[in-house]
Amino acid sequence: MAAYDFERLIVDIPDYPEPGVVFKDITPLLADSEGFAAVVDAIADHFKDAGITKVIGAEARGFMVGAPVARRLDAGFVPARKPGKLPRETVSESYALEYGTDALEVHADALSSDDVVLLVDDLVATGGTAVAQAHLVERFGARLAGMGFLMELAFLDPRSAIAEASDVEVFSLVKVG
Ligand code: 5GP
Repeated sequence: MAAYDFERLIVDIPDYPEPGVVFKDITPLLADSEGFAAVVDAIADHFKDAGITKVIGAEARGFMVGAPVARRLDAGFVPARKPGKLPRETVSESYALEYGTDALEVHADALSSDDVVLLVDDLVATGGTAVAQAHLVERFGARLAGMGFLMELAFLDPRSAIAEASDVEVFSLVKVG
């Protein structure tokens, strides 16, 4: 069976959220049952033999793709949230966005040193969000086994930034540029 053409469901939005940025809107893809399944299945299938015990995903679109991937892998899901959103003790890492800076937090008991972790997000641009999560995983002594993205903005060279932090495998379904 031919691969499902989900790329047509990712819409370019020029000058959003600020002039000069072309935002990739994945909401039409999330709304398409076959497209959504194709993306989740492809990421999960790629890492199905990696022994993943936890998927980590960043607020908010990392939740949308990461949680169903975790379910497919029979793994748990760890939400990496913006500061102040989690109710218990947290560990925190700051990071640079394509536009601005922020920090991500997970609960202090979210991972253990026995965990094998897959990082999932809808899109990697500069790699800053991914690197912050890689550092969070490291702080627990857990093993980061891979990163899976729906889209990679290759023209921003996120792989170089990621390689400086981790020698983890980076897998993306669609590369732009
Ligand atoms: P990075 O930290 O790699 O520069 O940016 C990636 C993060 O920002 C991801 O969590 C992603 O959801 C969000 N992001 C940045 N640009 C875009 C975009 O054009 N489209 C979408 N859907 N998310 C983006």
